Amino acid sequence: MRTQRQVVDYSLQRRAVLRDVRNGRIGALEVCDASPYLRNAATYHGEPTDERCPICRRDNLTLVHYVYGDELKQSAGQARKLAELPVLAMTLREFQVFVVEVCRSCAWNQLIERYVLGRDGQATDELLLASSETLWTAAASHGGEARR
Ligand SMILES: [Zn+2]
Repeated sequence: MRTQRQVVDYSLQRRAVLRDVRNGRIGALEVCDASPYLRNAATYHGEPTDERCPICRRDNLTLVHYVYGDELKQSAGQARKLAELPVLAMTLREFQVFVVEVCRSCAWNQLIERYVLGRDGQATDELLLASSETLWTAAASHGGEARR
């Protein structure tokens, strides 16, 4: 996909953590430690999914998108709504997105993906439009992906 660059997938690490929790090598309390800030971000900026929390199974997971990069200035490190990302990608040259899944019931949280967005590497406005549509499609199908 043209919009998302340098995608790093953390699903292997996620699976390893979940396996350790099931084996009792890691206590659930250690992985269910989302800070109040992260839980707030999930409430106000999060993207709901259809996927059940792998730890408590009480609530569906919420994806929180954190943005980092020099061009973001004081808003670097803030959570953004998924819908804001294509807009940022059109105005900034390059920034990092960290995607964290959060359970609002038990506070399970895990980094699942990171990638780079921005105008750099995009040739024309037409390409930009086409690729933000791809991003939308990918985002819409994201929650339904087999990540368990
Ligand atoms: Zn949970």
